[in-house]
Amino acid sequence: MKKMETELAQIGCRREPKTGSINFPVYFATAYEHVGGVSTGYDYTRTANPTRDVLQESIARLEQGDEGFACSSGMAAIQTVMGLFSQGDHLIVSLDLYGGTYRLFEENLRRFGLDFSYVDLRNMDEVENAIQANTRAIFIETPTNPLMQVADIQALCSLARRHQIITIVDNTFLTPYFQRPIELGADVVIHSATKYLGGHNDVLAGLIVTKGSELSEHVRYLHNAIGASLGPHDCYLLMRGMKTLALRMDRHQENALQLAQFLREHSLIKGEVYYPALDEKGKDTHLKQAGGFGGMLSFRLADANLIRPFLHHLKLITFAESLGGVESLITYPATQTHADIPEEIRLKVGVCDRLLRLSVGIEHIDDLRADLEQALSYANEYYS
Ligand SMILES: *Cc1c(COP(=O)(O)O)cnc(C)c1O
Repeated sequence: MKKMETELAQIGCRREPKTGSINFPVYFATAYEHVGGVSTGYDYTRTANPTRDVLQESIARLEQGDEGFACSSGMAAIQTVMGLFSQGDHLIVSLDLYGGTYRLFEENLRRFGLDFSYVDLRNMDEVENAIQANTRAIFIETPTNPLMQVADIQALCSLARRHQIITIVDNTFLTPYFQRPIELGADVVIHSATKYLGGHNDVLAGLIVTKGSELSEHVRYLHNAIGASLGPHDCYLLMRGMKTLALRMDRHQENALQLAQFLREHSLIKGEVYYPALDEKGKDTHLKQAGGFGGMLSFRLADANLIRPFLHHLKLITFAESLGGVESLITYPATQTHADIPEEIRLKVGVCDRLLRLSVGIEHIDDLRADLEQALSYANEYYS
């Protein structure tokens, strides 16, 4: 593979010899003629679409896997992968976790006879103790959403392998530009491509990458059978976003590091900032497995009563429920992304009413810092 920046910038390029089109065309056709009774390799668009193929090949190469699959959302990607399991199977899942994943597992898949144990994946003894005879997979997020906890992918994958369990990594927060779990031993990588890969808050998409021919074949079957495949126009938008991923990730990270340091020093925050670069315990593990810290950070305000005036007074950073786009967004997990997690579990995990999650955009750092500063002083005055 060429350098990642080159692979990204050239997605879809030199793929259409007939016209030489630099961007790969969008094939809207849902059905394809069998010329002389023979398939061209394209029959029906749920099964295969030329535009989707280019995206799928790209993500497979970027993640160093064997096959890629584009789905209609990150949740559709997770649901598709969960089709690998059957009634009676058990999965070990990251305790701190994207709220939608928790909801899918607990409120939906549990009804179909799947069982889940939520474990702090930083603690290898706890993970090993949670393995049962019917355990089939470990579902990993690192860094976790929203607390940015770092788990050791390589250690988890080798533990899993010893027990003939597969590993699934949600790589949404770092993208293959910073972290490639398959190189560390993972079997499946999933993405909410709605976030950094798309990068512009304008396309909902999910991706799956598999390693190994048996697993790839099984997921290929599920992808077609379940049918949550990504439409051609969204494939195009996603590829357009991915071309600038490297530039964006570098700037997201540069800004996030500076804001994390600024917030940590602020009197209304009391040092409670969660960002892998500032994580005493997780930093070394993170640096061993990732090429960067990414653009996501969380922090706690000193008092829950500060949250409302602070959020209402932000002028540049938008209070909204997503991440990974060029625009900075701030989220209140307790009422937004993690509202479906029962309060007692949410508090036990640490997603308390003082916690905010910041997706640091690519704006100028001075403007971002100034916005946080003025909203924090307003909240302080308002509250005191
Ligand atoms: C957003 C998100 C998802 C779900 O993806 P959608 O594209 O919103 O369906 C899954 N995992 C993580 C870590 C996310 O941030």
